[in-house]
Amino acid sequence: MLIVLKKKNDAPLLKELQHLLEKKFGCPSHLIGENKRVLAVTGDTSVIDINQLKSMEGVKSVDRVDRPYKLATRETKNRTLIEVSKDCVIGDPKSVVIIAGPCSIDSEGDLDEAAAMAKSRGVKILRGGAYKPRTGPYSFQGKGIEGLKLMKKAGEKYGMKTISEIMKSEDIPAFEEYVDMYQIGARNMQNYELLKALGKTRKPILLKRGLAATLEEWLLAAEYLLAGGNPNVMLCERGIRTFEEEVRFTLCLGSVPALREMTHLPIIVDPSHAMGKTRWVKDAALGGVAVGADGLIIEIHPRPQTSACDAAQLLDSEHWNDCMDSMTAVAKAIGKKVV
Ligand code: PEP
Ligand code: MN
Repeated sequence: MLIVLKKKNDAPLLKELQHLLEKKFGCPSHLIGENKRVLAVTGDTSVIDINQLKSMEGVKSVDRVDRPYKLATRETKNRTLIEVSKDCVIGDPKSVVIIAGPCSIDSEGDLDEAAAMAKSRGVKILRGGAYKPRTGPYSFQGKGIEGLKLMKKAGEKYGMKTISEIMKSEDIPAFEEYVDMYQIGARNMQNYELLKALGKTRKPILLKRGLAATLEEWLLAAEYLLAGGNPNVMLCERGIRTFEEEVRFTLCLGSVPALREMTHLPIIVDPSHAMGKTRWVKDAALGGVAVGADGLIIEIHPRPQTSACDAAQLLDSEHWNDCMDSMTAVAKAIGKKVV
């Protein structure tokens, strides 16, 4: 349910409404929107007497929201902007923000070289996995906390923000200390206890689409984060599992315009995990830019063949520069700039 007030930031009315909604109807409410005039009510709103609310002095309108994702829906606001730095805002309709770095943090030297590759093209956000969700238990599982510390070091050296995947809530304190953003992997999109725990944090969260998740299930997962109180959520389309086996996953680029109508959250495209092959990553990346993604997350590595994880899809320096050149051109053609 959305309650729109006549006046901006009407503190006494907000207090009265929040008290009434919580105490009488047991529904939590969240003040949303830039003008602080909209109160989004969550929980079982069917018990609320809508006429009582409408008759209150200072209330402009009351609407029931049909969508189950009440905070993620576009009905509550137009766009969420995540300000990474003054010149890098994820969700800015004029920007395509690039996140780049290795799949896994293999060694300090490799991470440093990958960060230098990203930095040389003006990238503001460095990715790198310290905890890797591997299909098999004998594959490299990541360097753990040591990897997070290396991320911090590389981020500081090159003046970049950092993002890394978290797999369990016990690691939140370490992530708070060493990285700037959380990544929730495709395999954990429906790990509801992890979502609840991360909802209590405030750093930006990139939520990847589950391997077989519908857009609604994905938005409901984002809703857990928003309902927990973290408004800095972005979605990442990374391909879904279909009957197709020639490409690693089926990149659902149609999700970008569809999500744009459904939600205000920024939408990132991951061409690396979708395609699974270095030589195909650029084409999928260009599709992501053209279809209107707010950003891309791309895996790069100074020597892909030596990487402990996802070697077949990493971009070496030559592929990376080619990909950046082409993305810059496509972005320009649609009136955007690559950040
Ligand atoms: C990753 O980004 O390295 C990763 C494991 O991605 P996903 O969760 O999309 O498979
Ligand atoms: Mn990977």
